[in-house]
Amino acid sequence: MIEATRNNIPIVDLHCHLDLFPDHVELVHECEQKAIRVLSVTTTPRAWPWNRDLNANSRYVRVGLGFHPEIVAERPDEIKLFERYSYEARYIGEIGIDGRPANRHSYELQRKVFERVLDICAEQGGKILTVHSASAVTPVIDSLEKHFPTSRGHVILHWFSGNLSELQRAKKLGCYFSVNPAMLRSKRGRDIVASIPQERMLTESDGPFLTVEGRPARPSDVFIALRELGTLIGKSPEEVSSIVLRNLRKLVS
Ligand code: MN
Repeated sequence: MIEATRNNIPIVDLHCHLDLFPDHVELVHECEQKAIRVLSVTTTPRAWPWNRDLNANSRYVRVGLGFHPEIVAERPDEIKLFERYSYEARYIGEIGIDGRPANRHSYELQRKVFERVLDICAEQGGKILTVHSASAVTPVIDSLEKHFPTSRGHVILHWFSGNLSELQRAKKLGCYFSVNPAMLRSKRGRDIVASIPQERMLTESDGPFLTVEGRPARPSDVFIALRELGTLIGKSPEEVSSIVLRNLRKLVS
């Protein structure tokens, strides 16, 4: 198997919005060519069918069925579509709760929808969830505890920004953590990331929302996270890549 990427290091991007890039189709093709493993998350259930169809034969790109917390207030009825498509989706996301001031108005609705999503996923079992928890880490963990028994699937906390005690709670729930370059920019971020157990560590780009060098991050930019993570934990990018790849295999097996 050829795994040619930047510096020939295998890249794993567990949270990227490929369908929000203007060159979506080319980007899927590029990830396939370079053997970049991507979980292409969506923000609305309505986006599921064409993303699913576009990647029906992809070897490296998987699609998540999503219902983003920042849009649930605009279209709460799409929970019905979510439920309908959920039977054909192994990967779920982006889902979660956003507690930042701009989204406070819909907080209760977000929580209700998130918990309904968790119930649906728990009932079916075997799913892998990528979860948003900006300014809402404690409520997200509370909802997971109540609505998603650890035996019913796997949870990846994407762009985790909680504190150490929240990290401990998430660890106890068996959560994985997908780390992006932005999380490693501040001392606080690096301190938290350094406390993530290596066997739970994954990587992400969160493109195109996250930017690197003034442009939307692409899956290949996960290399930056590998390099920075390596510096943080005293390993080479190659070693970090091996750890992430091993974690991914465990997650999907
Ligand atoms: Mn995202």
